[in-house]
Amino acid sequence: MLNEGLIFERSTPGQKGYSLPELDVPAEELTNLIPAELLRRELNLPEVSELDVVRHFTRLSQLNFSVDTEFYPLGSCTMKYNPKVNEEAAKMFTELHPGQADDSVQGILQLLYDFERYLCAIFGYDAFTLQPAAGAHGELTALMMIKAYHEENKSKVKSQNLKVRNKIIIPDSSHGTNPASVSMVGFTPVVIKSNGRGNVDLAALRQALGDDTAGLMLTNPNTLGLFDEHILEVAELVHQAGGLLYYDGANANANLGICRPADLGFDVAHFNLHKTFSTPHGGGGPGSGPVGVTRKLEPFLPVPRVIKGPAGFQLTAESYPRSIGRVHSFHGNVGVIIRAYAYIRSLGAAGLKAASEKAVENANYMMNQLKDHYYLPYDRTCQHEFVISAKWQKEKFGIRALDIAKRLIDYGFHPPTIYFPLIVEEALMIEPTESESRATLDAFCAALIKIARECATDPELVRSAPHHTPVSRLDEARAAREPDLRWTGNS
Ligand SMILES: *Cc1c(COP(=O)(O)O)cnc(C)c1O
Repeated sequence: MLNEGLIFERSTPGQKGYSLPELDVPAEELTNLIPAELLRRELNLPEVSELDVVRHFTRLSQLNFSVDTEFYPLGSCTMKYNPKVNEEAAKMFTELHPGQADDSVQGILQLLYDFERYLCAIFGYDAFTLQPAAGAHGELTALMMIKAYHEENKSKVKSQNLKVRNKIIIPDSSHGTNPASVSMVGFTPVVIKSNGRGNVDLAALRQALGDDTAGLMLTNPNTLGLFDEHILEVAELVHQAGGLLYYDGANANANLGICRPADLGFDVAHFNLHKTFSTPHGGGGPGSGPVGVTRKLEPFLPVPRVIKGPAGFQLTAESYPRSIGRVHSFHGNVGVIIRAYAYIRSLGAAGLKAASEKAVENANYMMNQLKDHYYLPYDRTCQHEFVISAKWQKEKFGIRALDIAKRLIDYGFHPPTIYFPLIVEEALMIEPTESESRATLDAFCAALIKIARECATDPELVRSAPHHTPVSRLDEARAAREPDLRWTGNS
């Protein structure tokens, strides 16, 4: 049988375990389940010695660019150092199976329970779901809750002319996942402009608000790295109109121990554990996007939830009949949650605050070094990241943000995020994080300043960069859409 030999115990009646579906296929017939065109006909693997294999993979690993090898100032992504002790902590739980009965996994259930409380303390919320697997997934989950909340309220009021609240207001600086999540839930995104200081434009907000407003989604500090100077007024206006405030917590690395989104008036929020609380991420995963809520949204949280009962920690769905249901198998990406737990425990409250302060300090330090050499569209104190522009270089030399990003690779740096946020032309979005030394920040700024000079003295050098990599300019869109991953025998 296919499921023979699995290491966890089957749940017995009365236990809250998970049972595998039976697959009544004898082992010798299993290949029949695989479509013929997917079966390998000949095995044409290279015959090489162990040493050759070791060298091949060691060389391949050295082609990888990572936070462990170089500076990685990718704006919005918070590529901070991922302490190795977190990996050890996550490894301690790898022999557990999520289908085990509650009473055999009390340790991890307590960790999940405690972790939820840490997040509540850090961000000010009353409860969290740990299920969402990424920030974008958290957005979807939260918007589903906002929808359930308004639907319930509407059904309570028997007025015929009460409008359906189906519009979510988003500033034009928002991350692309925001409007995408809004549409996925069946709401309509309404984009409003930012003002000259990078804040939500209050006049535009007033105009957009109405009795069809379901809520506002805001990142704060926003993707320009700027803290909204009128955030309390924004919250009041949205609440007065009957909408809810959603906090995109991807930039929480600027705020830890300094301000809490729930205190600012945000009813619901997601946080990207892989960004703020360190987990190696990039290339699409892994992630975790817990969603925090205030009391009024708590009944809608996904189930099952970990509660502390008389017999210990347990998973339950029954106590939450108004829940939107499950959004992930089992408990979410538990490996990422354990890393974040270990990170929070090892830094403590003071350490988290110090991390945020340092991240903000680092960003401001760099912004001030660079602003004479690159156009700075919003010249005010930034938070943990900032956005400069290649506007001057484009106007004078026809050199674009992409060229500058590619040239940075020649100097051994990962390029910053480019062409985002969309409201800054030729944007270069730089996020140093708290992990980096002053020497690293100086070296990166020196490289960018040198490139600004090269734009004048040898523009072609910048335009055709990178020059010191195994391959030069790639057609990135094509490489993503039609990846060529075959082993060719001569690599
Ligand atoms: C990263 C990010 C997201 C999306 O988070 P994922 O974990 O990548 O899904 C949303 N909003 C902002 C501002 C982000 O930086």
